Amino acid sequence: MRCQIFRSLCRPRSNRVSDLGCIFYCPSSQRQRLFSTTPRRNVRTTEMTDEQLAAVKIDRERLWKVLHSTCEWGKGERWGDGPTDIGMSRLTLGDADKQARDWFVETTKSLGCKVQIDAMGNIFAVRTGKNEGPPTYAGSHLDTQPTGGRYDGILGVHAGIEALKTMNDLDIETEYDTGVINWTNEEGARFPISMISSGVWAGAFSLENAYKLVEVGGKATQKSELERIGYLGTLEASHKANPIGAHFELHIEQGPILESSGGKIGAVEGAQAYKWFTITVRGRDCHTGTTEFQNRSDAMLTAAKLILHSHNKARADGCLASTGILKLRPGSTNTVPGWVQFSLDIRSREDATLSKLEEALKKDFERIANGEDVSGVNAQGTKGRGCTVEWQLDTDSPATKFYEDCIKCVEESAKSMLGTNAGGQVRRMTSGAGHDSVYTSRHAPTAMIFVPCREGISHNPAEYCSPEDCGNGAQTLLGAMLRYDRYRAEKGA
Ligand SMILES: [Zn+2]
Repeated sequence: MRCQIFRSLCRPRSNRVSDLGCIFYCPSSQRQRLFSTTPRRNVRTTEMTDEQLAAVKIDRERLWKVLHSTCEWGKGERWGDGPTDIGMSRLTLGDADKQARDWFVETTKSLGCKVQIDAMGNIFAVRTGKNEGPPTYAGSHLDTQPTGGRYDGILGVHAGIEALKTMNDLDIETEYDTGVINWTNEEGARFPISMISSGVWAGAFSLENAYKLVEVGGKATQKSELERIGYLGTLEASHKANPIGAHFELHIEQGPILESSGGKIGAVEGAQAYKWFTITVRGRDCHTGTTEFQNRSDAMLTAAKLILHSHNKARADGCLASTGILKLRPGSTNTVPGWVQFSLDIRSREDATLSKLEEALKKDFERIANGEDVSGVNAQGTKGRGCTVEWQLDTDSPATKFYEDCIKCVEESAKSMLGTNAGGQVRRMTSGAGHDSVYTSRHAPTAMIFVPCREGISHNPAEYCSPEDCGNGAQTLLGAMLRYDRYRAEKGA
């Protein structure tokens, strides 16, 4: 009997055939791959119509169950009464991370994948496609913050595995290899540089420096821990030795935009540019009781005004500005501090906007520290003797632009899934946080998919993404990978 959608002979696993196509009628219990004597796969992505693509559905229940079953490894704090209301504490390269990694390797091997581990412990599981060429991957990370949740990173890896399972279930033949990546130490919580392993792959960090990185509050290095848990791979950690055909990453938004706007899927266009500075304000220590305001060089009061102004100016320019570290000397109740140092983190979607903000702040800070009024910050109070301001650039991370054709595949896939409701539910966004995709995008076509998380909470045990949103994200991911596979074949890349 011929299936009307896939126009191929129906296999024994599809117990019913109708004009909607056999896969529609394969309940998940019957979706497991049966031992087949014929190596020929059922359907090629290049032969699929949009209708057929829309009929390729992940198993949402399986995704949810498997994801939570693996959260046994590295369980964190309980925050609610529900069975999954428990946070995660799966620091990279610890024993719980090893268990999660072992599961990843075993599972992907059981799906028929070839699994390789590189020198940073990044794991690449590849399902064979028809043609030679670097794989189209779904990638993210299984490590978490010490008080993290169950979805940041974890969802992206599980969704990738669910995508491969679905391709197997439906015997889909991709034109190019497809796969899943588990990136090492994305969080930078234990070894304090985030995304360091995708960074080594991209050539942004040297392997030597990455190996030397010592854990926070301990002595182990990234290399000694890779060795200890058996994940120091032999494959070179490099985009040259191990190229990526495309990288799709599903991730929770970690912000409130989708949830508050009724959005379901974010098609992420890129990541913000950011710069980190250390600002030093120098004045003069003096007695708080004997020094009149006009005779002071109050470094703390000046720093407070500078921080306030950075906020107001960033807001006016559509940027972000934040101070997270503040130090002052000498630190005595009855001494006006003569020395203050603070961190300044500024962010924008566009490199040019960020540079403009930086230049403006440099001029304004100087004037404010001299007692001149800028936008009202010195309008009140008594003018003192002034302070000096010194800037030091610590980090400069330019804006990341993802690959337009990958973004389009995400949008098409999301719209196809949401159907007539798709209207305002799929929106283009910019990532406020860093992700492994920022590094992969330097050497491979990349895009990200965001799904809402409750109240935008992340890096917190109470981080939550509903079964519906997890499923939507994974479905969009699979659709994007298949569409991109088809696109690659058409383009011949
Ligand atoms: Zn993450």
